[in-house]
Amino acid sequence: MEKLIFGTAGIPISTKGNTVQGIKDVRKLGLDVMELEFVRSINISRDKAPEVKKTAKEEGVILTCHAPYFINLNSLEKAKLEASKKRILASARIANLCGAYSVCFHPGFYMKMDAKKVYDNIKKQLQEIVSILKSEEVDIWVRPETTGKPTQFGSFEELCELTAEIENTMPCVDFSHVHARSGGKFNTANEFKHVLETIEKFHGKEGLKNMHIHLSGIAYTAKGERNHLILKESDMNYKDLIKVWKEFKIAGVVISESPNIEEDAMLMQKTYNES
Ligand SMILES: [Zn+2]
Repeated sequence: MEKLIFGTAGIPISTKGNTVQGIKDVRKLGLDVMELEFVRSINISRDKAPEVKKTAKEEGVILTCHAPYFINLNSLEKAKLEASKKRILASARIANLCGAYSVCFHPGFYMKMDAKKVYDNIKKQLQEIVSILKSEEVDIWVRPETTGKPTQFGSFEELCELTAEIENTMPCVDFSHVHARSGGKFNTANEFKHVLETIEKFHGKEGLKNMHIHLSGIAYTAKGERNHLILKESDMNYKDLIKVWKEFKIAGVVISESPNIEEDAMLMQKTYNES
């Protein structure tokens, strides 16, 4: 991507209607990207996808996708593991038919296992997912997301390393999750720089031009993420974060996951343009 663009997790709150109307409203709000939220279910059919793709193209809105929450690529139960893979594959296929650029998902849980073993388990599943998509010519970035709780696999270090080993994958960097997962760290300019430097170390300058970012305010405890908040009602140091994005000249998409979705997307965009 050439620049950093901002948008909403799902259709804007102000939208009265479906995905197609949501895309039109994103454009009217002056935003440039919308994430298809399949978090509870994959709510776009194969038949409907071409209309979504056409609308996004006409409106000049980039699409990304969030796969269902119910995924654990480290499940010890075969049925759950297969269902997890199916959800990612199905999300990627539909998102691709919609013309989406990237699909993200929460990769799984440690299940009290050794972190290295979990890494290997998830790597194996992810390799399989990517090779199936490749064989079907489904051309979309597959992105395990940095997670919000220490019981969930997905520190940014783990995901940078993992995605450097598998083609067509990159991390989805949820800076709010990184902050909450560490119990309040990763909230200063130096810490934000460290995250971007790690991406550059594993994915090069190119990686910094191919970012898929989530941001919102966030409430957390020692156990990590509790719930999302409006940026200004949280301790999230978004102003310094946005300055660091500018300093590193990153490009890609930034998705607002705040409860007031589009308002914080516009706040981030405005802060970025003015910094
Ligand atoms: Zn997420």
